[in-house]
Amino acid sequence: MSQSLTSEQPVATSLLKKKPLIISGPCSAETEEQLIATCTQLAATGKVDMLRAGIWKPRTKPGMFEGIGTKGLPWLQKAKQLTGLPTTVEVATPKHVEDALAFDVDVLWIGARTTVNPFSVQALADALRGVDIPVLIKNPVHPDLELWLGAVERLAKVGVKDLGLIHRGFASYGNTEFRNAPMWHLPIEMKRRLPELPIICDPSHICGNRTGLAAVAQKSIDLDFDGLMLESHIDPDNAWSDAKQQVTPQRLAELLDGLIWRH
Ligand code: PEP
Ligand code: MN
Repeated sequence: MSQSLTSEQPVATSLLKKKPLIISGPCSAETEEQLIATCTQLAATGKVDMLRAGIWKPRTKPGMFEGIGTKGLPWLQKAKQLTGLPTTVEVATPKHVEDALAFDVDVLWIGARTTVNPFSVQALADALRGVDIPVLIKNPVHPDLELWLGAVERLAKVGVKDLGLIHRGFASYGNTEFRNAPMWHLPIEMKRRLPELPIICDPSHICGNRTGLAAVAQKSIDLDFDGLMLESHIDPDNAWSDAKQQVTPQRLAELLDGLIWRH
């Protein structure tokens, strides 16, 4: 059944409209030097359209690095000024939204652990009422398409017009080939239900390793996805989060060069 958002139907414009839209940057902002070096090297490749950085990190267990917090936002603002590239940050609370807007972040994204929680999504939607900023919505951690659609609807209902989707795979217990199984039929169904929304693939969180990134990225391109979000770090092995899946800016450029864009 086709889903209609009627008068609140979101329309992808401007920043989210470029195809392919390539977003890259570190899983987490760690230090000013790490963030600026990663972002300037990414920009120098000429292959990246938007910079990402996790400022507040939703970690599975306490005691892990939970993000540098608001003090990282001026670093990202500086990266934006130095590179001329727009920026995107994960927001999980209204305060995150307020802080991100104060530091000129161009696009917000809602993480998988937030999309699962309707209270959190509604709180974000309420904070975004009347705010003109694009928002990317990752799929929920588990394979619940209605919940993903519900998050889109909550944002559309408060008037957020510029919406997009990120496919980051779905959690399953035990060791599998993927950190988060792609279950491609689910994003495909999402594309069918919301054909006007761009959908980009996040191979980094699907794979959880470096070796699978290119194949997953290529698969998403073959399925006519609209872009990629890939994590990059100047020193991946020593990253403070998601060390196994991040690649250097140079490796990222090689990976992108190896992809075949058929659409
Ligand atoms: C991230 O993008 O670094 C992240 C935490 O992703 P996800 O919400 O997909 O787990
Ligand atoms: Mn990450």
